[in-house]
Amino acid sequence: MDVAIIGGGAAGLATAIFAARRLPHARVVVLDGARRLGAKILVSGGGRCNVTNRVVTASDYWGGDRRFVGSVLRAFPADATAEFFGEIGVSLHEEDDGKLFPDSGSAKAVLAALLAAAARAGVEIRGGHRVEGVRPDAAEGFVVAGDGWSLPARRVVLATGGLSLPKTGSNGGGLSIAASLGHRIVPTTPALAPLVLGGTLHRGLGGVSHEAAITVAGGGHPPVTLRGSLLWTHFGASGPVALDASRHWHRAEVEGRGVETHLCFLPGLDFAGAERWLLDGAASRPTAMLRTLLADRLPAAVAVILPRAAGVDPDVRLAGLTREDRRRLAHALVAWPLQVTGTRGYNYAEATAGGVALDEVRRGTMESKRCPGLFLAGEVLDVDGRLGGFNFQWAWSSAFVAARGLAARRTRAIEGERRND
Ligand SMILES: Cc1cc2nc3c(=O)[nH]c(=O)nc-3n(C[C@H](O)[C@H](O)[C@H](O)COP(=O)(O)OP(=O)(O)OC[C@H]3O[C@@H](n4cnc5c(N)ncnc54)[C@H](O)[C@@H]3O)c2cc1C
Repeated sequence: MDVAIIGGGAAGLATAIFAARRLPHARVVVLDGARRLGAKILVSGGGRCNVTNRVVTASDYWGGDRRFVGSVLRAFPADATAEFFGEIGVSLHEEDDGKLFPDSGSAKAVLAALLAAAARAGVEIRGGHRVEGVRPDAAEGFVVAGDGWSLPARRVVLATGGLSLPKTGSNGGGLSIAASLGHRIVPTTPALAPLVLGGTLHRGLGGVSHEAAITVAGGGHPPVTLRGSLLWTHFGASGPVALDASRHWHRAEVEGRGVETHLCFLPGLDFAGAERWLLDGAASRPTAMLRTLLADRLPAAVAVILPRAAGVDPDVRLAGLTREDRRRLAHALVAWPLQVTGTRGYNYAEATAGGVALDEVRRGTMESKRCPGLFLAGEVLDVDGRLGGFNFQWAWSSAFVAARGLAARRTRAIEGERRND
């Protein structure tokens, strides 16, 4: 086999298509532990697959060196993704926050198009082939082995994903393979996972959503503030802003930093701004109840439950709000301490933070610096994007660069053989 790609998710399928197109005479095989490929693509974007985003830059990602991420994204930017999907029959349209979805509204159609493109390019797909080990081999390049089978391969691509949603087959096994081939693994944590909260505030607010900002501060690191929609749930908080915050909370925990998480109910306002708003409200509507003023900017349930939780009566007339209560409430509105006790973990996470360290991979080819002939793509690497199509874009871009690297290696090998003739 010329190229064995381990993992047939987004990154593996895209690498196979791009590589087979560049190397029309090469034998390219995709090996996946799952019998049917693409389980994660099928559940993505609520079954609609948010394929990419209109604007994608390195600042949408966390993890390894952003210059590395930026260079990979520039090699195959979001425009190229839209063009590629158009060419394989999946036209995209834009929705809120620049998210690009298939016009068909169907993740199934995205998977079917990728599988058809792979078949047209001559890629062989072997489901039910979980890889347990990869061994460098002097004669063959590599020997890839599973339970009761083995396959020699000149080049290997590791596209095994991270640990998110392990029932789809991405359970971190690829990280052990990378480690066995000499790679350093940045400790992994869930990313894009709902937050589990202590305290009682969330209990009365289940199902309520509103704009919010979450700040995660971990000792020694600059605080990170994220803004977006928040959805209160019976266990804590979900919605884009909570999901985006989860990786920062986990990183602080895993790196042993003390972590504090605060919620701002009035994004864009600081304490002084919130207090000024309350004062202005009291001046213009002195007989209105506090909860009426709060409901101008927040859902009615929050307008009652938040002041109560802060020890302020929501039914008080604004003219009667004491200075102490006003200041206490302003503080609660802009820096409510979120008692994060954990997240819902990998079973609910949409991505994985951590993975194979980027500094051991060549940014122009995605080839391993530790193990020549091994290439890496997708979520197995120490890169995680924010919510909004960025994780798939990383899969497409890194796949493109890996395929380019495979082609360059092949050209070098052929030139070497010619020189030896
Ligand atoms: C519920 C959910 C919704 C999501 N929605 C979106 C979205 O709308 N937009 C977006 O950008 N991102 C989304 N993501 C994230 C996105 O799906 C992933 O970032 C992306 O699929 C990663 O692609 P990958 O190919 O690197 O890994 P994966 O998709 O995880 O694929 C890895 C493949 O490798 C196989 N494998 C693993 N180990 C082995 C082994 N040892 N041997 C053989 N095969 C193996 C697995 O079976 C799997 O098929 C979502 C994720 C989840 C969980």
